[in-house]
Amino acid sequence: MISVAEAIQIVIEQTQVLTTERLSIQDSLGRVLAQDVIADTDLPPFNRSQMDGYAVRSEETQSVPVRLRIVGESAAGKGWHHEMHEGQAVRIMTGAPVPLGADAVQQVELTHELKDNTVVELLESVEAGRSIVNRGSEVTKGETVLRSGSILNPAMLAVLASFGCAEVEVRRRPSVSVMATGSELVTVDQVPGQDQIRDSNNYSIGAYAVRAGATVERLPLIGDNTASLKRAIEKASKRCDMIVTSGGVSMGIYDFTKTALQELGAELFFERVALRPGKPTVFGRLPNGTLVFGLPGNPVSVSVTFNLFARTSLLAMQGATEPSLKPETGVLAKSVKGNIDRESYLPAQLTTNDDGQLVVFPLKWGGSSDFVAFAAATALLNIPAGTGKVATDSLVKLVRLP
Ligand code: AMP
Ligand code: MG
Repeated sequence: MISVAEAIQIVIEQTQVLTTERLSIQDSLGRVLAQDVIADTDLPPFNRSQMDGYAVRSEETQSVPVRLRIVGESAAGKGWHHEMHEGQAVRIMTGAPVPLGADAVQQVELTHELKDNTVVELLESVEAGRSIVNRGSEVTKGETVLRSGSILNPAMLAVLASFGCAEVEVRRRPSVSVMATGSELVTVDQVPGQDQIRDSNNYSIGAYAVRAGATVERLPLIGDNTASLKRAIEKASKRCDMIVTSGGVSMGIYDFTKTALQELGAELFFERVALRPGKPTVFGRLPNGTLVFGLPGNPVSVSVTFNLFARTSLLAMQGATEPSLKPETGVLAKSVKGNIDRESYLPAQLTTNDDGQLVVFPLKWGGSSDFVAFAAATALLNIPAGTGKVATDSLVKLVRLP
């Protein structure tokens, strides 16, 4: 049995980065950038006024009130491109270039105009540099403003637009086929008969995969039968980058997923992880290169193992800089029990306390089949293997659920 960290390492090593495609800015939200973005201009591109007011020479405002002659007007998009001399001021608007010779802007509220608007009187002095953002003080031309591997958020789209990237190189979306196995399963629109339950895993897996940037195809349910499972896996593998199955990986006599994969010639990288819930998780690659995650059937195990392993692989396929869930630290609100041989990832909710600490509330749940309780979880509380009772107020690790 390998540790969770080792399993994640194997997933990253065995995942190949997908090819790229060019998208227009508006289509690139949430995609993983496959290029660095270099500034093609200084920002701001000129000394810019931050206020509506008057461009002045600050040393002339040291004793107030002071009267200065208005010699021009600098508006956003239409500057006043002359040199400003002693005794002069230029009426200026937010976003407009500051004229040569001026070294400060006094805001309009602290001034008034006189003599048919030819003179301005400043009521307060202003120090050099006030309300001016100097050329290149935010970004200098040639600087890297976005790095390959970033997941594009709305603010990053603004960065792309500012530097003229109408189109951007991103990784292709991975395609995932989702496949639930189990002779007890019926679809959502059916009423379960005797000994039957509705499939729920195909929906949680499909939704988590979409959150990880994938396109998803949900396949018809498959009974506990090696031949039909093999046929379905082989067919799906021809048109996707990853297959995620659920069920059929435990030690029961009807657990055929591993057998099917082996008979198809898959290379299995791991089949058991020291994890609670989710020990019998399988990861392998079919001869054509399609990756396969064989997740356990229990719905909570599915959510935990998908997000630890399959999600990491999907983000690694897209070249994301941080493919795996990021560990954080919080304060435990209620004591929990660990496990001797396995690392635990338990459903939890997060809040903050008055000291500004992140607080982790373990949820009351009935085990790895209790997905209704799990649906309220926003995080997984991570207890290392070999831990007994963890006391209230201990510092604990957690990951946020996508
Ligand atoms: P297995 O891993 O196949 O032994 O399944 C473990 C448990 O998860 C059993 O109680 C199954 O009925 C249940 N289960 C398996 N697949 C699904 C599914 N797709 N949706 C909901 N429950 C499932
Ligand atoms: Mg089963």
